[in-house]
Amino acid sequence: MKAVVIEEPGKFAVRTVDDPAPGELDAIVKVEACGICGTDIHVLRGEFAPTRYPIIPGHEFCGEVVEVGSVVTNLSVGDFVAVDPSLFCGHCRMCRLGRFNLCENWNAVGVGSVDGACAELVKVPSASAFPVGADFPRNWATLVEPLSCAVHGLDQFGPKPADNYLIYGAGTMGLLLAQLIKHNGAGGLDMVETNQARHALARRLAADRVAVSADDLDRPKGWDVVIDATGVVDRLESTGAVRRRSHPQDRRVKRVELTDDGRRLRVAFWEKLTNRSGPLGRLSGRELTSLRSLLLSAVRAPSD
Ligand SMILES: [Zn+2]
Ligand SMILES: [Zn+2]
Repeated sequence: MKAVVIEEPGKFAVRTVDDPAPGELDAIVKVEACGICGTDIHVLRGEFAPTRYPIIPGHEFCGEVVEVGSVVTNLSVGDFVAVDPSLFCGHCRMCRLGRFNLCENWNAVGVGSVDGACAELVKVPSASAFPVGADFPRNWATLVEPLSCAVHGLDQFGPKPADNYLIYGAGTMGLLLAQLIKHNGAGGLDMVETNQARHALARRLAADRVAVSADDLDRPKGWDVVIDATGVVDRLESTGAVRRRSHPQDRRVKRVELTDDGRRLRVAFWEKLTNRSGPLGRLSGRELTSLRSLLLSAVRAPSD
């Protein structure tokens, strides 16, 4: 079959390689559509630590099952499927907590050490393939994986009806999140996107307002939820202009970003993903919750 092979960081070619053969629990999928994710760019540049080269990239894909392993019962040849590319061990501590996305031995089709879907055929565990209804436009199923990541992101904080949202980034992830939020009872939805060519689509799909900077959005008391879908490290680590003013005498910050009980979510994250000793790695790479405490609260239930 033909496949895109990244030989080493920065070097790729279309090559003829052996067709994959299924293990007894695998399925072979004839690829019909495959997305190019920001992570693929990092894989190509050698910036994604889990990647082993050479590798065929491609982890957002759909296609038709053309062969199944000898003991596969959940799929049949001819099924049209979307695939969860994550491969988890099932026996580490995180897997046994049911948090398979945080598997300590995590691997993934197309980004770890297993070949992906920028190819005519791809081998996947049958349990990771999900048949898609015939009424669903076939190519759209390549968005099932990024959409699932967006759904998981929203699950992390639990959207409340009438929340007001600010999303940084109107790329694929930002737009998927925006549409989910819009259909989940948002009070308002603003987006910040520095690329103005993306503004019209963001407005058409979901956003009430789009601007190149949150400073251009008049919301003096801030947003209930702020989501970063850019993955830009400067943005993730910025504290100056986007920090909530904590004290009346703190004149350094002009604008309030979060409301008083606001919540922040970061979905786009790649830098030093496997460096779990750094502050970003600890929080995002392990889905930790960061809380803060100040003084005391006199509002407590009566003890009697
Ligand atoms: Zn991706
Ligand atoms: Zn595991």
